Amino acid sequence: MHVLYHDVLANPPSTQTIGPYLAHTRIAYFSMEIALRPEMHTYSGGLGVLAGDTVRSCADLGLPMVFVTLLSRRGYLRQEIDSEGRQIEHEDPWNPADFAAPLRAKVALLIEGHEVWVRPWLHVVSSPIGSRIPVLLLDTDLHENNPEDRRITDRLYGAGTEYRLKQEAILGIGGLRILQALGFSVRKYHLNEGHAGLLALDLLRRYPRNPNQIANHTGSAGLKFRITPVHDACIFTTHTPVEAGHDRFDYGLFGHVLRDYIDIDQVKLLAGDDSLNMTRLALNLSGFVNGVATRHALTTHRMFPGYDIRAITNGVHLPTWAYPALADLFDASMPGWAYEPDIMVRADQLPGEKLWAIHQQAKADLIAQVARRTDVLLDIDKPLIGFARRMTAYKRPELLFSDLGRLKRIHAGLPFQVVIAGKAHPGDAPGKVLIQKIHQHIRELAPEVTVVFVPNYETDLARHLVSGVDVWLNTPTPPMEASGTSGMKAALNGVLNLSVLDGWWLEACVEGITGWAIGRDGVTPPDEAHGEPIENDLYNKLENVVLPLYHHDRERWIWMMGQAISKVACYFNTQRMMRRYAAEAYLR
Ligand SMILES: *Cc1c(COP(=O)(O)O)cnc(C)c1O
Repeated sequence: MHVLYHDVLANPPSTQTIGPYLAHTRIAYFSMEIALRPEMHTYSGGLGVLAGDTVRSCADLGLPMVFVTLLSRRGYLRQEIDSEGRQIEHEDPWNPADFAAPLRAKVALLIEGHEVWVRPWLHVVSSPIGSRIPVLLLDTDLHENNPEDRRITDRLYGAGTEYRLKQEAILGIGGLRILQALGFSVRKYHLNEGHAGLLALDLLRRYPRNPNQIANHTGSAGLKFRITPVHDACIFTTHTPVEAGHDRFDYGLFGHVLRDYIDIDQVKLLAGDDSLNMTRLALNLSGFVNGVATRHALTTHRMFPGYDIRAITNGVHLPTWAYPALADLFDASMPGWAYEPDIMVRADQLPGEKLWAIHQQAKADLIAQVARRTDVLLDIDKPLIGFARRMTAYKRPELLFSDLGRLKRIHAGLPFQVVIAGKAHPGDAPGKVLIQKIHQHIRELAPEVTVVFVPNYETDLARHLVSGVDVWLNTPTPPMEASGTSGMKAALNGVLNLSVLDGWWLEACVEGITGWAIGRDGVTPPDEAHGEPIENDLYNKLENVVLPLYHHDRERWIWMMGQAISKVACYFNTQRMMRRYAAEAYLR
């Protein structure tokens, strides 16, 4: 019987201590969000889910690591949709004591000129096939702190840049000091995105140096700049493919929040003249930098010329995302797959009837979930297209609805249904409008075409979606999808991807075998002169390739399911990803 990682809670949390981890831990991984289990609301989306899959693979591999994140007591956002199709935002609190234990260590840092105390909670991730990994969740809700400071670790990505900067100070500076206070001797710090960039600055402050050293070496785009001990210690994984997406702070604000912390002129040399760009800071202070897919590394290199940007393509933790009955089938035919996922290459030999029967079971489970959450009853015999993304402009959730007349005509000949989910960040007004528009389209397409929006996309719902739909649709604007990981989860479960060529899909798409591409590489933007609008290609693929295959050649469809599992899962997993980080970044 397949064991889900979050079914395993390593003893009662209150009995856990940090002692067993101190002596051998060498690498600390910092992330603003980590999806540890569905009940712990310490993540918002892809970045956190990746970090969670990373912890689980580290546990499987027994890597000597500790993870650091924020406690986020009040979570990110619980989404409700009102009768007008508008997103209603609620806090999403969880109870830390159910899954973690407060440790005794406490450190302080100066924020706005006064002390703010930080305490870690310990949560332990336990692998059924490997070891245990400690995760420290930082908390400022202590009686020593004033009411405002007590809320710094409350809301993940809460409102306002000042709040964000304080959170990043707690994560980067507070996190580093906590590790030292607990007695860890860490050799490498892995910054998952720029949010923990202040950690590198805090390391820099500790090394005696000649300030001119920085000026002398940053000259041309930071190329020859090296402050060896900091460089040697820091590894930076960037996730943002566009200039506007990088975390930036006004130096006035920085000076106000972290007054007298460091000479601002020195920071400007490292993080940009006009504002503090956390990506640039991390780039300048890390000896190993990587993007999260081959194309993304190239895009980053164009954005920041002169830096050596490697590519380590993201993955997913296979045992977390495999539908349980499918995992049992993997166990029977490819023993050891969870630990040695390369063997998944043999999944193309899985018996088709079994694969199909298990898929239909997963689809029935999803249909039950959707009925429970929305009152809409989907039809198990009709192909089901899934689209679950953060609702934001670049993901283009409205692309499928560009021509409702055409959608209805396609449906008349080749019936299908659609399930959609996704939250918009509370500060993303256009993203919220997209949710409303989707609801309008749902009404316009009814009753012929069934499209259902399931509120509150989170990892539990994601597990049902990525195993229970037939087609996983993805329509980002290239090159905005740095990697994407939900399509990997889908392929692992025999769900076929239909996606724009961007991020990971550029590496994984074998047309008509692992799934299908929408548009061609390099000619996907909708306003492209020498191509058709991208939505035409989406409709053409659906009408001429995807839906006819489902309705008229089930055998070939099931063959493709086996191809998708074998060719995607054997490579796009966090086991391979972490082995690469270990060999290329941590052992550097
Ligand atoms: C996997 C996952 C994501 C990441 O999806 P993308 O493919 O990067 O859009 C986001 N949210 C949840 C809940 C997930 O499970």
